[in-house]
Amino acid sequence: MPSLISSQESFDEKLPSSLSRSSATKAELQTGKLRHLPLFETCDQDELLLKSINKQINRSRRILILTGAGISCNAGIPDFRSSSGLYELVKRQHPEASIRSGQEMFDISLFREEAKIPVFATFMEKLYSSARLAQPTRTHRFIAHLKNRGKLLRCYTQNIDGLEESLGLEVSSERDSNSTMANQWKNLDVVQLHGDLNKLSCTQCFETYNWNRGLSRSLRSGQLPSCPRCQHSNRERSLLGKRNTGSIGLLRPNIVLYGENHPSCEFITQGLNIDMARGRPDLFFIMGTSLKVDGVKKLVRNISKQVHERNGLVILINKTKIGDCNWHGIIDYQILSDCDTWVDYLQDSIPDLFKTQQQIEKAKQLKRENSELRKRQREERKLTPPSTPRKKKQSNSVKIESLPSPEDTESDASATRDHKAETSNIILKLAFEEARTQPCSILDAQSLPSLHREDSLSNATDTTIEDDLTEVDEELPSSRLPANPKQPTVVAR
Ligand SMILES: [Zn+2]
Repeated sequence: MPSLISSQESFDEKLPSSLSRSSATKAELQTGKLRHLPLFETCDQDELLLKSINKQINRSRRILILTGAGISCNAGIPDFRSSSGLYELVKRQHPEASIRSGQEMFDISLFREEAKIPVFATFMEKLYSSARLAQPTRTHRFIAHLKNRGKLLRCYTQNIDGLEESLGLEVSSERDSNSTMANQWKNLDVVQLHGDLNKLSCTQCFETYNWNRGLSRSLRSGQLPSCPRCQHSNRERSLLGKRNTGSIGLLRPNIVLYGENHPSCEFITQGLNIDMARGRPDLFFIMGTSLKVDGVKKLVRNISKQVHERNGLVILINKTKIGDCNWHGIIDYQILSDCDTWVDYLQDSIPDLFKTQQQIEKAKQLKRENSELRKRQREERKLTPPSTPRKKKQSNSVKIESLPSPEDTESDASATRDHKAETSNIILKLAFEEARTQPCSILDAQSLPSLHREDSLSNATDTTIEDDLTEVDEELPSSRLPANPKQPTVVAR
C-alpha cells in the first residue's frame, strides 16, 4: 500500500541508531509521523521496533487508556449497526417507525418524534439485556491487571456497557455529594465518556435508578416509565395545595446521546485536568476506536500533548487503519490488530508485565532470601579453617594415619549437619514459595489486594519492578490471560 510505504520510508530516515540495540528510549521512539505497524508478518525492522516499544510499555508506570467499541467486540453484545443486529430485531417489532439505522437510536433528535420513542425503549432494553450477558474480554482484563499492578492512571471509555465494573474496576456513575470532587476522582478507574447503560435516569430531575424487572418489562413493551421521584414531588405539591407543575420525567438509560450534553461534563473536565497536571502520564494507549467523535479527538490531542512532553508514547491499537495526516505528531504508532490479539501478543513478548503484584513481591522476597543465603555461605566459608577440607582430601586419597582427630571430625560433621539443615530448610522454603506463586491468572488478580491508587501516584521515585528482578524472577511461571469464549460481535457505541 503506497501510503504505508511512504510513511515507513520517511520514518526509516529517522530511525534511532539505538534501535539496533533494542534499547531506544521513549523519546527516541516518538515519531513526527504516525507509523502503522502490523502485528504479524512484519519485516525485521518492524519486529525490532515492536520489541523496543514493548520494552518501553513494560517500563511505563502511569498509563492512560482510551477505549472504544473495538475492545468489546468479542464480549457478546450484538452489533447495533449491522443488519443482523439489534436494530433489525427492533424494527420487526415496530415496523411503522421510520428509523433508518441503529445509529439513530443514539441521537437526541429521536425524542422530538413521539413515534420513535417506543422503538428507542425496546432497543435500549434489548441492548441492556445483551450487555448483562456479556463477559469482559482479554482487553478488559488487561486494563484491570494494569490497575492491580498500580500502573493504570485512568481509563476513559466511549463504551456504555460497563464491563469493566465486573472486574473490580471503579466505574464512574453517580456523584457523591458528601465527598470532594478530587476524592471521588482519585478513586475512579474508568471514566464513562458516554454514560452508563446499566442505570436509568430521569429526563426531568436526572435522578438515577437501577434496572429492575418492572422497569425492564415497561421498556421492552416500548414504554419509558415515569420517574417515581417526580411523581412523589408532584403529589407533595398537591397535598400542600401548591400548583402542580405537571412535569413528570421519564426514565431512560443513563447514556449520553448525540447532540446532548454530558451531565457530568464539568466533573470529567476537572478530572482530566487533574490527570494532566498531577498524573504525569508516561504512556497513552488508544484501543479499539477509529477516533471519529469530535469530543474524543480533542481529548486525544490534549492527552497526547501531555504524554509527549514527558517523553512518553502514544499507541493506537485498532484493526481499522485511521487517516494519517490528522494524527501526525499526535499518535506515534498504530498497531493494526484486534485488541485481544494484541494483548495475547504482548503477554508472549513481555511476560513480566503480566505477573501479578503478588508474584512480583514473591520474586523480590526470593531474591532477598537467596542473597542472604549466599552471604551466610560466604561467611561460613571464612570461619571454616582452610586446612580441614585439605585434610579430608588427603585422607581419602593417601594416608589413613592423617585422618582428622575424633574431635575435629565431630566438629566438622556438626558444622556440615547445621549447614545442610539450614540449606535444606531454605530450599524447602523456596520450593514452598515457588508452589505458592504458581500461575495466577488475571481472573484471580481481582481477588488480590490491589495497590492503592494514591500509592502508585505518589511514589515518584518508584523504580521499575521488572528491572529489579533477576534469574529468580525468570523462573517464576507467568500467568496467561484466560481466553474468552468467542461470542457474537459487539459494538456499544
Ligand atoms: Zn424525575
